[in-house]
Amino acid sequence: MIQKTPVMRKCISCRTTFDRNNLLKITNDHKLGIMLNQGMGRSAYICKSKKCYTDSKLQKKLQKALKRTLNHDFFDIFEREIANYK
Ligand SMILES: [Zn+2]
Repeated sequence: MIQKTPVMRKCISCRTTFDRNNLLKITNDHKLGIMLNQGMGRSAYICKSKKCYTDSKLQKKLQKALKRTLNHDFFDIFEREIANYK
């Protein structure tokens, strides 16, 4: 029997560790740029608590974690995504 160990990742806002499946993943994909919940490359994770995804410093934290500038296009997509969690 194969034991499935959950992959744990840390929320960049509250710094709490969660099962990766319960986190929103933002990836700086090598080819495609910033992607949500997909892509390969440097990633940052945010938990699905309102306190975190509405964090006023989230943009700065994300940019630091992903080492790139995030534009309004990304936050449009991001806001559409988090609208599903309410
Ligand atoms: Zn969090």
